[in-house]
Amino acid sequence: MSMGFLVDESAPMIWRGPMVQSALLQMVRDVAWDGLDVLVIDMPPGTGDIHLTLAQRVPLSGGVVVSTPQDIALIDARKGLEMFRKVAVPVLGIVENMSYYCCPNCGHREDIFGHGGAKTESEKLGVPFLGEIPLHSKIRELSDLGKPIVIADPDSEQAKVYCTLAETVLKNIDQAQKPAPRISMED
Ligand SMILES: [Zn+2]
Repeated sequence: MSMGFLVDESAPMIWRGPMVQSALLQMVRDVAWDGLDVLVIDMPPGTGDIHLTLAQRVPLSGGVVVSTPQDIALIDARKGLEMFRKVAVPVLGIVENMSYYCCPNCGHREDIFGHGGAKTESEKLGVPFLGEIPLHSKIRELSDLGKPIVIADPDSEQAKVYCTLAETVLKNIDQAQKPAPRISMED
């Protein structure tokens, strides 16, 4: 579901906070979501109104922080992570997006934004590192066609990166939902 389905492609959404909030809650509550395993909400970057509304009004299983490897992006990732912690939403992990450039001609790899920043950060912050998504033209082309690579080309190396990531997130959701073990005085 997307606001893009409801308004003209070229129409900008010029909304104040309360309107954004009610649209968000309507999308979560009033859409006929049917038989979902997981509902993924793609959030804009930042720690604004919409993030706070979501954290406080929707029972979230957890948050995934997506960052590129540069220091400047990691600063935002850190803020996002702290926000989740403040509103008691479990952090399921950090993903490094555009982790490295993968040349479609010869397959050579180039760390154009640096590399490994998100992994180092996740270790520093004590949250799971979920994986590295390469910057690959096949991912971009298929995404623009509305065909995720995991469906269009499930055996590709790039699709496997997403699948491993999804499996880890699912595992971390299960763990986050397990109640903390009770410590008995007799033990
Ligand atoms: Zn090349």
